[in-house]
Amino acid sequence: MELIDWTCDTCHGKTEGKGAISIAYDEIHRANDILKTLDATRLTVADAVAQPNLALWKVECDTCAGECIGAYWIDLRKLRDDADIVEWTRHLERKTWFAATNWDALVASAPRVKPLRVV
Ligand SMILES: [Zn+2]
Repeated sequence: MELIDWTCDTCHGKTEGKGAISIAYDEIHRANDILKTLDATRLTVADAVAQPNLALWKVECDTCAGECIGAYWIDLRKLRDDADIVEWTRHLERKTWFAATNWDALVASAPRVKPLRVV
């Protein structure tokens, strides 16, 4: 299976599979506000994608990520391939604010690479 080749949003280096993907609680609050502005009883992913102002997840390498204080975060070691993404998406979909974040675009655009060796 291909691995996801995350790039750090802060230093723009490769994460080498270590680090964190996080979303600040400020962004989560903003996401909730976005959802409130939508006149829909049930928001679809397409509705959320159409929103230009989605709450943003941040990818960071181990050095840049620090302790992710004030943020909901996922260890990148647990987000290495598409099977991990499916599992985390299922988990995150239960969050009320999830649909107003850029998760779908982020994971869809993350570059995939063939592993050099079995890890
Ligand atoms: Zn970095």
